[in-house]
Amino acid sequence: MKKVEKISAAENYAAATIGNFDQLSEHLFVIAPDVEVPGKVFVGEPLQSTGAEVSFTVVPAGAGGDFLHIHKTNEELYIVLKGEGEFQVDGNHFPISEGSVVRVSPDGKRAWKNTGNTPLTMICIQSKSGSLQGLGITDGVVLEDKTDW
Ligand code: ZN
Repeated sequence: MKKVEKISAAENYAAATIGNFDQLSEHLFVIAPDVEVPGKVFVGEPLQSTGAEVSFTVVPAGAGGDFLHIHKTNEELYIVLKGEGEFQVDGNHFPISEGSVVRVSPDGKRAWKNTGNTPLTMICIQSKSGSLQGLGITDGVVLEDKTDW
């Protein structure tokens, strides 16, 4: 079983790696002693994240779509890296593929499945619905400091 490896951390950051995306299926997310999800890994805990949870998922060809779920307070952003699939929210079905980005509100009843012949690889970012302070770069502040590399 593959593990998240910490790269570096200090007061204002933490960095980790899940490894190569081609080895994502070697990660095993254990929900309960008899409920395991291969190919899913969360990085919020190793990154000590306070504003968002991030997970990586790979769904084998022809798999997925087994259950619907909602969230209590978090919205989710699904980012498709590779593969083809179908997503559904509240009974609305639509295709997803490399480059697709899907936002789902906490109450949206969601599920996805791989409809292609290759693995479907996605990133999911959870954050508290309604918590974002400005879109785009409006929260960023460019500094006068110079980089030192
Ligand atoms: Zn979710």
